Amino acid sequence: MPHDHSDHPHALLPPDPALRVKALETILTRKGLIDPAALDEIIDTYQNKIGPQNGARVLARAWCDPAFKEALLADADPVLAQLGYYGRQGEHMVVVENTPQQHNMVVCTLCSCYPWPLLGIPPGWYKSDAYRARAVREPRAVLADFGVSLPEGTRVRVWDSTAEVRYLVLPMRPDGTDGFSEDQLAELVTRDSMVGTGLAKTPEGTT
Ligand code: FE
Repeated sequence: MPHDHSDHPHALLPPDPALRVKALETILTRKGLIDPAALDEIIDTYQNKIGPQNGARVLARAWCDPAFKEALLADADPVLAQLGYYGRQGEHMVVVENTPQQHNMVVCTLCSCYPWPLLGIPPGWYKSDAYRARAVREPRAVLADFGVSLPEGTRVRVWDSTAEVRYLVLPMRPDGTDGFSEDQLAELVTRDSMVGTGLAKTPEGTT
């Protein structure tokens, strides 16, 4: 299927979106087409209730529970739906696992498709032309910009998100975390590690 942007949140926004959005919001409110309180509710949801902490909880559980991890990697949608992490911009999730042999990195080369229910709103760099172009062409250089250097023998695989499929990276569990609770482990799963531009934090706090 082609990349469908009909439901895309920012596909046609001009370069100065904040002003345009505010102007649009004012017009629509005056015309009675939208309720500003409802808009505030949506913004609050994505800023405060839906964010990388959701993805981190899921992946920390995968580190602890082999059966859960197997199910998540095999078919993420029903597993995530059961946990309540489902909905707009989160349909058709695929979880890809980092190993010593392969590091996974996620991009949307056409725009900025991103798993909102698990990671919240995409960061600015994810939507940038530079990231979208370079992630595919020179992923190791991009990783270096993020402060990540991988062993020579590790292959980097780049997954191109679309409106149909969103990817989430399961980072490698850091050493020195035996006996950690799921909550403690979730603290180590950063947003960037779930996009593949970072690694999970180590217990000492370095990446
Ligand atoms: Fe996109």
